[in-house]
Amino acid sequence: MEKATQPKIIIAIDGHSSCGKSTVAKQIAQELGYIYIDSGAMYRAVTLFALRNKLAADEQVDEQALIDRLGEIKIDFRLSPENSRNETYLNGENIEEEIRQLPVSQHVSPVATIGQVREAMVALQQEMGKNKGIVMDGRDIGTVVFPEAELKIFMTARPEVRAQRRYDELTAKGQLVSFDEILANVIERDRIDSSREISPLKQADDALILDNSDITREEQLDWVMQQIQQMISA
Ligand code: C5P
Repeated sequence: MEKATQPKIIIAIDGHSSCGKSTVAKQIAQELGYIYIDSGAMYRAVTLFALRNKLAADEQVDEQALIDRLGEIKIDFRLSPENSRNETYLNGENIEEEIRQLPVSQHVSPVATIGQVREAMVALQQEMGKNKGIVMDGRDIGTVVFPEAELKIFMTARPEVRAQRRYDELTAKGQLVSFDEILANVIERDRIDSSREISPLKQADDALILDNSDITREEQLDWVMQQIQQMISA
């Protein structure tokens, strides 16, 4: 695909937990020479700030205290020269590894329900996309952040399939985990994300559905690139 001559668009990828959104978003960004932004990493960065400043503990968040200190939080992404990955920075510090760890995962959902936190993140996300040429994944990208995105994809897969993939990933890393626990977690995260009051996870009316339960990663990428090509050349 020619990169220089084609108009740049915004690609929004939303969907359920653990269905490979970031994998496909990164692949698209690489194919097109676009910026990839992981919006979940931004909610994770705010959560890390809250934990470090003792504004969150035991799965509880001091909402007002966090809102009062939102102005102290600066989040940006920088390309790592070592692995070409876009890594997350909080106030100038690389926090890419730390935000993937359990304490952050355990507190990110309540943080992501706070209206002022969402407003601040959405403003930042919209600023990042103002020149287009961006692929962003999350839960509310096609509905709230970029409702005008030229291409919206809503990803899903059967819960058992997602849990099995997560199980295989973790056991390959040597972690002792139970399949049933992972399945319960996948279902619970979907429930929380879909039922929260502000910006719940839902399919935008004009999103294309990609159910990857029964297709390979290669088939998935082929399908997505076909949709992009059709959109760009339309
Ligand atoms: O995508 P990831 O699982 O890393 O996102 C972490 C959490 O941030 C999710 O569980 C979800 O509750 C929240 N999130 C959100 N809106 C987004 C992206 C993530 O509420 N656009």
